[in-house]
Amino acid sequence: VDPEPVPRENVNDNALRPKRLGEYIGQEQVRKSLDIFIKAALGRREPLDHVLFHGFPGLGKTTLSYIIANEMGAGIKVTSGPVIEKQGDLAAILTSLQEGDVLFIDEIHRLNHVVEEVLYPAMEDFQLDLIIGQGPGARSIKMDLPRFTLIGATTRTGLLTPPLRDRFGVILRLEFYSPEELVAIVQRSAAILGMTIDPLGALELGRRSRGTPRIANRLLRRVRDFAEVGNHPVVTVEVADAALNMLGVDRFGLDEMDRRIMLTIIDKFQGGPIGLETLATVVCEEKNTLEDVYEPFLIQSGFLKRTPRGRMATVVAYEHFGRKFPRSGTI
Ligand code: ADP
Repeated sequence: VDPEPVPRENVNDNALRPKRLGEYIGQEQVRKSLDIFIKAALGRREPLDHVLFHGFPGLGKTTLSYIIANEMGAGIKVTSGPVIEKQGDLAAILTSLQEGDVLFIDEIHRLNHVVEEVLYPAMEDFQLDLIIGQGPGARSIKMDLPRFTLIGATTRTGLLTPPLRDRFGVILRLEFYSPEELVAIVQRSAAILGMTIDPLGALELGRRSRGTPRIANRLLRRVRDFAEVGNHPVVTVEVADAALNMLGVDRFGLDEMDRRIMLTIIDKFQGGPIGLETLATVVCEEKNTLEDVYEPFLIQSGFLKRTPRGRMATVVAYEHFGRKFPRSGTI
């Protein structure tokens, strides 16, 4: 054991990730299912079936993949869809796996179709099936691969092609976390970061973290800066509130971009409906980021409504932003 304390700047995101299933907070359904599937696979001395996680960014897909590898006593290789450009790239990764290893592919929906086709026989029969060259000189190469577990992560299952989706034995959806679960996550992270936060301070952070552990951890670090500079040894609700206000995070957890989105719809487009493309252009944000990062939380919190004609602001949004709702009873 290294007696030297770890410099606090070095406590990176990985240090905050729970390592075992028992330490993982929230997502009870997912945890229970994984616990059973892992125990069954271990009992049969087989690798776990391929797993697909879907859920919005920062909810714990990568963390769970590391946990699965840990619980299975297996190695893990981590890559992501857009990084694997050619069939040969994927072949190189697959042939470097050891028996039982986990291969984690983040953003698996962004694999290109040619690469995806190499994955089908690999997932189904642990076979590498490649055609090398073109025309009369083309050769087919077949190779046995070690049995491995593919874990794919995506924001929405609908983005995957059906043949790829069908090859996952386990499909699990991650939900937003409750404020209470986020309190537990904040308290755990605070202990790792060596800071003191009281229960109400943790609750304030939990409530304002958009149901997302990554955001809770990020805000916690910024609150720590605020507390250190302001000489507050304990993060109380007052310290947390002042820090979050300074960061532009309101009492619902909405940030600058959320406000820009909602006020654009309310003030510039009379509450909507407004198409996603137009909205993205006006607020200067990528369409995908709007759809995967901002909208889910705004919809879940009741501020935004998706209709066939476009996005609309709800009465709740008008009230929250102190605007008078123009119509009555339509939303
Ligand atoms: P994703 O892969 O879904 O984008 P990650 O697994 O990278 O999300 O999680 C983001 C951060 O949130 C990680 O740094 C991790 O420490 C933290 N985290 C996620 N889920 C939990 C959890 N259940 N308990 C504690 N921390 C968590």
